[in-house]
Amino acid sequence: MSFVMKLHPVLVNPEYQDPVLLISIPQKAEVLIFDLGYCFRLKIRDIQKITRIFISHTHIDHFAGFDHILRLSVDIEKTVSVYGPPGIIRNVEGKLAGYFWNLKAGVMLNFEVNEVHPDKILRKRFIGNEGYENPEPPEVIPHSPSEPLVKTDEYSVFSATLNHRMPVLAYRIEAVDSYNADVEVMKELGLSPGKWVGELKRYISENVMDAKPLEIDGKHYDTGELASKIIGKNPGTRIAYIVDTICDDITAPLAVNIARQADYLFCECAYMNAEKDLAAQNYHLTATQAATIASEAGVGQLIPFHFSKRYDGKYHLILDEARLIFPEVGKADKY
Ligand SMILES: [Zn+2]
Ligand SMILES: [Zn+2]
Repeated sequence: MSFVMKLHPVLVNPEYQDPVLLISIPQKAEVLIFDLGYCFRLKIRDIQKITRIFISHTHIDHFAGFDHILRLSVDIEKTVSVYGPPGIIRNVEGKLAGYFWNLKAGVMLNFEVNEVHPDKILRKRFIGNEGYENPEPPEVIPHSPSEPLVKTDEYSVFSATLNHRMPVLAYRIEAVDSYNADVEVMKELGLSPGKWVGELKRYISENVMDAKPLEIDGKHYDTGELASKIIGKNPGTRIAYIVDTICDDITAPLAVNIARQADYLFCECAYMNAEKDLAAQNYHLTATQAATIASEAGVGQLIPFHFSKRYDGKYHLILDEARLIFPEVGKADKY
């Protein structure tokens, strides 16, 4: 891949309103959504590009926007993949069953719902011109949490199951790494561009250990040595998304693992440390806990959001508390 794969995450709503994180995939007419609360701000041109929706859990503030997306996409011929914790198939089926679809002809939108369990994915399709009725049981696909939920040429998405007194999914999206050849170094070595540059990129990206010497204009070169001189790596952006979980001995390591080395960690900071008992009672995180996860995961930047309304007018105190533990606290770009 020749272009640099940088992802640009945007929070659709202010930090204290419903979670909706939008990530557009560069060079593709593709938009990914992480959680789908109230979302009337979402522009139609973005809604039309949605290909995948990743839901943490189906509390209303994370899923009420589904109807809005459905309404504005219903006549578009495409399949939207939805991912979520156990129960998501029933929840989507219930949403779709909330309307009459007797005029099926104009209903072009389809859904593929993926229900993520610890050892498997249950998958069920709902087809628009069949009135979204599907009496068949879901397809069962073996799956382990170490495998990506999604893998495309541009990105992969992983999930972890945390605990909100119900299973809640945290996610990490990783754009693919890209590689570039240093033209100046090539000149210094007296080499002109050719197919061999692609071979070197493949050598680095696939970590080929037993590559044969490379022949360029009749001369033989050590592939590994040449690759290390000429090929540079541009790491793809990594973004982690964690909301609505208790922080305990089981969830903390899982949260750190899903956030590891993320450039951006979007993390709920529902409560402040002074209310940590209340946070635990309600299975939410404090700013101190979120910042500790960010620090242990070695993230580039922590972006706190999903604040409790009890801090209305003093949300900056939440950021200050997080900064005491992890200085790289940032704000998301606004939609
Ligand atoms: Zn919740
Ligand atoms: Zn919530």
